[in-house]
Amino acid sequence: MCDANNADGIPEKTETKRGISRRGLFTGVLGAAGFLAVGGASVVNAPGAFAVSRPSIISTSGWGAAAARGSISMSSTPRNIVVHHMASSNSTGTSRSAALAIAKQVQGWHFANGWVDTGQHFSVSRGGYILEGRHRTIEGLNNGNVFPVGAHVGGHNSTSLGIETEGNFMSTQPTTAEWNALVALIAYLCQTYGLGVNSIKGHRDFGSTSCPGDAFYPRLQELRNAVSEVLGGGDVPPPPGDGDDPVTSQPWPLVKNGARGFRVTGLQRLLKHHGQSLGVDGVFGSESLARVRSFQKAKGLVVDGAVGPKTWKALSVLLKNGARGNAVSALQGILNSRGQSLAVDGSFGPATLTAVKSFQKARGLAVDGVVGDVTWAHGLRA
Ligand SMILES: [Zn+2]
Repeated sequence: MCDANNADGIPEKTETKRGISRRGLFTGVLGAAGFLAVGGASVVNAPGAFAVSRPSIISTSGWGAAAARGSISMSSTPRNIVVHHMASSNSTGTSRSAALAIAKQVQGWHFANGWVDTGQHFSVSRGGYILEGRHRTIEGLNNGNVFPVGAHVGGHNSTSLGIETEGNFMSTQPTTAEWNALVALIAYLCQTYGLGVNSIKGHRDFGSTSCPGDAFYPRLQELRNAVSEVLGGGDVPPPPGDGDDPVTSQPWPLVKNGARGFRVTGLQRLLKHHGQSLGVDGVFGSESLARVRSFQKAKGLVVDGAVGPKTWKALSVLLKNGARGNAVSALQGILNSRGQSLAVDGSFGPATLTAVKSFQKARGLAVDGVVGDVTWAHGLRA
């Protein structure tokens, strides 16, 4: 289970406005070809009439959920769709019965937390089965305006729908079946609740957690674009960044004290390359802060301890086939966070070259296998 920090029943500030109107969204959906055609506007705006059809969802009774151990209240203020990984094993069980089993297991974990029911609204299994998590979630979908207050993202439970995806995505990606199920489910949720695709967030956008995993988190923009395609739109600009691992449209991320994850690991290895002595643990704490300041001072930069564009540029090293050392390790770790599975051995050989070219191709960059500022920036950004 992802390290959700979400006690039930915490009073939360409620929001009264939605990002976009339902009518505006439906107009856009209906402009797209290839999706279920429905009649005039009166039908479109009626609850239950959808341009994107509801994917199959196994209800709580369908998977044999235990009864909730307390009352579940409903919220009418959906603002976010929060994607999680369960941090469970990357099981090869893709059957329906495996899906039912994980749903029961999660409910048991959450009861053990003292929660009244499964924390999240939906679970997606390794085989791509979608299951109702918390009771009353399907009731909310049928209503179209409300959803049960969950327990999956501390401080934001009355404004956030939650989806737990089975597996651990720190270094591996969701299965194709999971990805497809997420796209179908999230498109349907955006439509049902009148949310734009920038409502799609990762758990770590809201707190200190690695969820939904270092490998999967960087693909949230790809997920937004995929959902947008289903809804009839094109690629969308990413939302403004927040938190310690921002999805940002800036070419270099801002990484500072308190940050965690693959960018920090890369930063630490690059600092070592430049002669700074520190541990590589992916956590930006006091030691990293001191070494960043020391590096900034040595390079004549503003000594603020925050790693933005100027500091990243000073840290980045031109790398090509045959290079060795900590900068190569930094590169390999970053590529692994992008779905490669390189040995982090500090040796730029044929496997690293292939991985660099593959990454450059995926990002629409010049495919030369040489790692300069642009490739570094793309590796580090969302
Ligand atoms: Zn989570």
